[in-house]
Parts: sequence; structure tokens; C-alpha cells
Amino acid sequence: MAIKSFNRTRSEVDTIVEQFLNDGMSTDIIPDSDNSRSIGSSSNRLSEIHSANLYGTAHYADIVFQEKKCDICGEKFESGDKVQLIVNKVVDEGSEDDGSYMVPVHVNCDGE
Ligand SMILES: [Zn+2]
Repeated sequence: MAIKSFNRTRSEVDTIVEQFLNDGMSTDIIPDSDNSRSIGSSSNRLSEIHSANLYGTAHYADIVFQEKKCDICGEKFESGDKVQLIVNKVVDEGSEDDGSYMVPVHVNCDGE
């Protein structure tokens, strides 16, 4: 979608953009140069981002795993537990989802 006229009011442009976003995008969002644009800001953050894959570097973030229980002992994790990661799966290069997949387990967990 291209906005071809600059004779529109801000409200009209907002309506066009809102319709575009609500109807679903049929194109990629690509900035005009590498590492140059942001979505949101430190004072106006997005509440959630959902994606199949997320690439890049995470700053100022907690790491959240889907697993709520230790894969060795089966006990539910609690605040303050020390954990380590075990490799669950390795996907070789050449696949879109290549990399090492890991799950948390208690440090030195013996399964009892
Ligand atoms: Zn455990």
C-alpha cells in the first residue's frame, strides 16, 4: 500500500494505516537501511509480540521457558531454583529452524 497523496489529513492517514494493519499485512516490513528503525520505545512499549521465529539480541529481558517442570525429576520449578540447560534437539544447518534447542533442569538434579 502506498500513500500517494500528501493532501490527506492526519486523521485520514491514520484511518488508512489502521485499516491496513487490521486487515493483515500482505507484505514484509523492511526499514530503509540496516539497524536503523524501531517499533515502540522505552516509554511506549508494545504489550506482546508473537512470532514463529525471533532473531537478534535480547536486551533487558527475562528468559521464559515453556517448561514449568524439571525434565529430570519432574518437580515444578520454584522461584530461586538454580537451573542449567540440557540440549534437547540439534537441527543441522540448511534447515530454516537450525540450531540447538534446550530445556531447563535443576542444577545437579539426580531425579529424586
Ligand atoms: Zn530436577
